Amino acid sequence: MTIMPNANRPSPKRGVLDIAAYIPGKESVPGVAKVYKLSANETPLGPSPHAIEAYQAAAHRLGIYPDGQAKALKEAIAETQGLNPANIMCGNGSDELLSLLAQTYLAPGDEAVVTEHGFLLYKIQTIAAGATPVTVKEKDERVDVDAVLEAVTPRTRIVFIANPNNPTGTYLPFEEVRRLHAGLPRTVLLILDAAYAEYVRRNDYEAGVELVSSSENVVMTRTFSKIHGLPGLRIGWMYAPAHVIDAVDRVRGPFNLNGAAIAAGAAAIRDRAHVEMSVAFNDKWLRWLDAELTALGLRVTPSVGNFLLVHFPDDPEKSAEKADAYLTSKGYILRRIGAYGFPNALRLTVGPEEANRGVIAVLSDFLK
Ligand code: PMP
Repeated sequence: MTIMPNANRPSPKRGVLDIAAYIPGKESVPGVAKVYKLSANETPLGPSPHAIEAYQAAAHRLGIYPDGQAKALKEAIAETQGLNPANIMCGNGSDELLSLLAQTYLAPGDEAVVTEHGFLLYKIQTIAAGATPVTVKEKDERVDVDAVLEAVTPRTRIVFIANPNNPTGTYLPFEEVRRLHAGLPRTVLLILDAAYAEYVRRNDYEAGVELVSSSENVVMTRTFSKIHGLPGLRIGWMYAPAHVIDAVDRVRGPFNLNGAAIAAGAAAIRDRAHVEMSVAFNDKWLRWLDAELTALGLRVTPSVGNFLLVHFPDDPEKSAEKADAYLTSKGYILRRIGAYGFPNALRLTVGPEEANRGVIAVLSDFLK
């Protein structure tokens, strides 16, 4: 729907109506009883049982405000990750932290650099803050550090990088992140969105802790929605220099995390066995899916996350759109990602074993 500004009623500020609203993946298929939702990068293993217990216990504390500093959660994060709690801020999902960073650092006339296939929220939050997103081409579906550096102007205030990126699943080795940081003016904030960091099994990957600790202009954002299996509770966190924490704290709502989220998040991140099990499960099935899809003749972008970007043939009968319709009719919901610059690809989240096997069988049928 296109809403036009109207002189007879309040209008949103300039830019808001230019935003293409974020569309989450489908959840159900009318008429299909058994549905596998492989469209939202949720973990098939769900959260730690300790997180569920902590959530249930929180039901007895609904009559009081939560701790506005989310101290118990910050401490659990700091303890398990070996970080200073003073440099941690929690958010209502990492979405909220990305939004708060944009609200805090971007004003009209400012620019934020985003990449061609980068997570769409960066653009949305940049425009919502009244600033201008500058989109940079990627190379082989991966962030191109030189192109990002070339796009920086005196108006640039933020560079947003998802590492690993969604929906490509590709990542920048730490040396490349370091090179990117070294080339940026010190006044530009480099935001490393490491939502999928826990899944990465590569020696040359680092989520960003070291750069945050050793500089004044890097922030790393993380989430409990992926490996910790708590997207329904909306919990994110960031690790940032003290001056960034201080500034964003002034903009943040005083009780941005609810009490159940604080309790369940702390229990989840302390359950290291559950995290390890989830990483091992993902590793096994990510590799299996990649091999099976490749054997079907489909091109798959090499992924280090919990999802795969699957490219379909040029043949109009075998397109991503047709594949999506066929898969959906059989109860397999994947993610269409035309909005990310991939009109002929689908994103597939690693699911439970039967869903992984099922989706390959259905695709094999489809491609015959
Ligand atoms: N960053 C990236 C790259 C993501 O894929 C997502 C989830 N779609 C998020 C951030 C936001 O996650 P959440 O708000 O659930 O923490």
